[in-house]
Amino acid sequence: MAIIRFEKESDKQSYLAWREQNPKGYVLNINTWNPKATTYKNIIHKASWCSSLDTPPAANRDRPITPEHPKLCSTDIHELESEMKINDLPYKLCGLCRPKIY
Ligand SMILES: [Zn+2]
Repeated sequence: MAIIRFEKESDKQSYLAWREQNPKGYVLNINTWNPKATTYKNIIHKASWCSSLDTPPAANRDRPITPEHPKLCSTDIHELESEMKINDLPYKLCGLCRPKIY
């Protein structure tokens, strides 16, 4: 297992393909790289669906991946959590798709 990082706009197709192939996986949407951020948090979603992943603001609709907002994907939610903890970054679980931690 490993975290797969989608960090460039050109990663869009492989990102969408990964989600399709890993419906039980998780997508960590990076909103901030600032450990002290209080306004923005990095959010973990289900890979299978989430309205917040699939209906972003119109300005970003065709750009799900940008260097500022990369997606970290894994089939193991614990990997994504430890990645945030190691780097002391704020994160939470999405309230819409409610990923479960087993
Ligand atoms: Zn979600």
